[in-house]
Amino acid sequence: MAGPLITRTVDETRRAVAIARTQGKRIGLVPTMGALHAGHVSLIRAARAETGFVAVSIFVNPTQFGPNEDLARYPRPFEKDVEICTAENVDLVFHPTPEIMYSPSFKTFVEVGDLQNVLCGASRPGHFRGVATVVLKLFNIVQPDVAYFGQKDAQQARILMQMATDLDLPVEIEVCPIVREPDGLALSSRNVYLDAAQRANATALIRTLQALRERIDAGERSAEPLLRLARAMLDATPGARIDYVAIVDFDSLQPMDRLKGRVLLALAVYFGATRLIDNVLNDIK
Ligand code: AMP
Repeated sequence: MAGPLITRTVDETRRAVAIARTQGKRIGLVPTMGALHAGHVSLIRAARAETGFVAVSIFVNPTQFGPNEDLARYPRPFEKDVEICTAENVDLVFHPTPEIMYSPSFKTFVEVGDLQNVLCGASRPGHFRGVATVVLKLFNIVQPDVAYFGQKDAQQARILMQMATDLDLPVEIEVCPIVREPDGLALSSRNVYLDAAQRANATALIRTLQALRERIDAGERSAEPLLRLARAMLDATPGARIDYVAIVDFDSLQPMDRLKGRVLLALAVYFGATRLIDNVLNDIK
């Protein structure tokens, strides 16, 4: 099977996409940091089903990592990633170096107002500034008609939708459902950091979200008892350390006392040095 074209520079990427466009193809982009798993594959398949030319970017973006985060040890199994892209019939893999994306004179960053400072942004200062900046660059390099993101990173999806609206970006943003392991753990490239005990206990995230969901389905509309239940469940989980437990309005990402409208239940929990996130989005009358 012929593999995807692998590009490393902006020019070669633009040239390949321009040819596809002259062939009348719609362009789909799946931005990733590599270490591809079934969650990424679900985005690639959505792109494959809906567009004629599928580009996957693989770039571990330094500007979205804090100084004490896992930039250096983030997994980079590039050959395996290309095999997955080949199996999924991807047309182009854009795999730039940090130097190509950020020249020594780089100065411009995108900030998406107060959406970037709450939830994950509160514990990872500068993270969403790095994300928004690299995604805008990827949009400008590939110029996709549709870009695919996962609900797994709900705040990221919300921020990128806001950026696309505010900056009149000619791209449709599609958010795909969370892909999970059979026991409910959301797939993540960071799950490989977990040892056996941490991996077993990491199901606490989905179990907690499900417990909240059940209370909501049973009629609970007050945030406080739900937050208390979530904290109690996570505090009782061996090895778990809560970063945040939040019930927010999905539009503003601000906490809500009474649940109404599009409500995001979101968790971030450390197991050792590994930070896991998960969420569920509820539509409440
Ligand atoms: P990453 O490589 O972690 O930057 O993720 C690239 C894209 O894949 C992002 O849009 C993520 O939200 C998405 N993604 C990561 N994990 C999952 C998952 N378990 N299910 C669905 N999408 C995911």
